[in-house]
Amino acid sequence: MKNEMTSEMKIDLPPNSRFCMVVHYAEIGLKGSNRGLFENQLRRNIIRALSDTTLGSVERSFGRLLIYFPKSFDWPAISSRLKNVFGIAHFSPAVITDQSIGSITQAALMQMKQGGYKTFRVTTKRSQKEFPMTSPELSALIGAAIVKETGARVDLSNPEKSCFIEIFNKNSLIYSEKIAGLGGLPSGVSERAVSLLSSGIDSPVASWKMIKRGVRLIFVHFHSVPATTQASIENTKQLVKLLTEYQYKSKLYLVPFLAVQQQIMINSPADYRVLFYRRSMFRMAEMIALRERAAALVTGENVGQVASQTLSNIRVVNDAIQLPVLRPLAGEDKKEIINLAHQIGTFDISTEPYEDCCSLYVPRHPETKADPKKIEEIARQLDLNELHEQVLEQAEIIKFRHPEQLPTP
Ligand code: ATP
Ligand code: MG
Repeated sequence: MKNEMTSEMKIDLPPNSRFCMVVHYAEIGLKGSNRGLFENQLRRNIIRALSDTTLGSVERSFGRLLIYFPKSFDWPAISSRLKNVFGIAHFSPAVITDQSIGSITQAALMQMKQGGYKTFRVTTKRSQKEFPMTSPELSALIGAAIVKETGARVDLSNPEKSCFIEIFNKNSLIYSEKIAGLGGLPSGVSERAVSLLSSGIDSPVASWKMIKRGVRLIFVHFHSVPATTQASIENTKQLVKLLTEYQYKSKLYLVPFLAVQQQIMINSPADYRVLFYRRSMFRMAEMIALRERAAALVTGENVGQVASQTLSNIRVVNDAIQLPVLRPLAGEDKKEIINLAHQIGTFDISTEPYEDCCSLYVPRHPETKADPKKIEEIARQLDLNELHEQVLEQAEIIKFRHPEQLPTP
């Protein structure tokens, strides 16, 4: 990435101008009366994401956010942080200046002076209609100045480089680079959900997808220590740490699951054990959701992937609770999930060895088409409610923050 905006470079900034980062939203623009809410949440998230950098201020301005910095700042570090902020369509290092042709021309030349391109175009967007020129007129004028200065040629249909000009509210923004953001909605605009996080490949990807839709997640992990090692707990903590980079604050419930498993093992048919383990997980996750004012659960379930994920089995597990369960990976292929896990950075943590609590005390060929009536009958006999409450009392709760020095509210 070019280091166009570091303070070491000799750049002639027009008078009345500042460097800033302009941030364009992804879907926020579509949200009508909720727009202010979304913009404010995105603004807060950007402030959080940049809170350990030399951030100046973040201002809402006519359908975009402008991030200002003091004189010197670490542009690659800021860029890599913004790349993880959900709700951003793209962002650009820009110059903000007045609306005189002289200032706009100088800022455009500054943005375009880094050579290496033969063709370019100027694209002007004018949201202030009283500006004395039309967009094509201004583009042509600035384009001519760039041709004169650089010798490059105008190509409107397939340019190697673009100069973008935005005219609004007595200001002009000029930039030449659009860096893609992640899209999605700002974390925290869509209520809360409890995410069941194993230390496998799927559930961290499912969690990431829901954070991308603005949902604030509370994580729960069920472990079978001391019958297993601590490995799944350690892996899960690593995963939550990584996912917290996208939602800034997280809570992880570590629930000791062994006592529940032992009850189920003693009192239910072997073929059904996994289903009752899973029903208990769902039930306890729902209890956490009620306590945390969360409206749904999230899992990494994927239709047909393993015996417990046939539609019949998904149904009988679901029957144990009232809250809706979001399964963002239900229809994905394993390959697609693995690709995404690599992209997010969870794959290597998820493939660290660990013992899965669900694989304890289960037969090799569990039931794949459970009968709901039979399940309900056994569930009544098992009567695990009290045990669930006791076990939840023993859960360890860990809090995470990103960046780590984020101030406590
Ligand atoms: P994953 O890759 O997420 O572990 P999986 O393909 O191994 O999923 P299952 O083991 O059937 O499938 O688990 C299905 C879902 O149930 C997981 O995606 C996760 O949401 C939840 N889950 C499974 N085990 C645990 C656990 N120990 N703690 C919390 N949630 C769990
Ligand atoms: Mg698993």
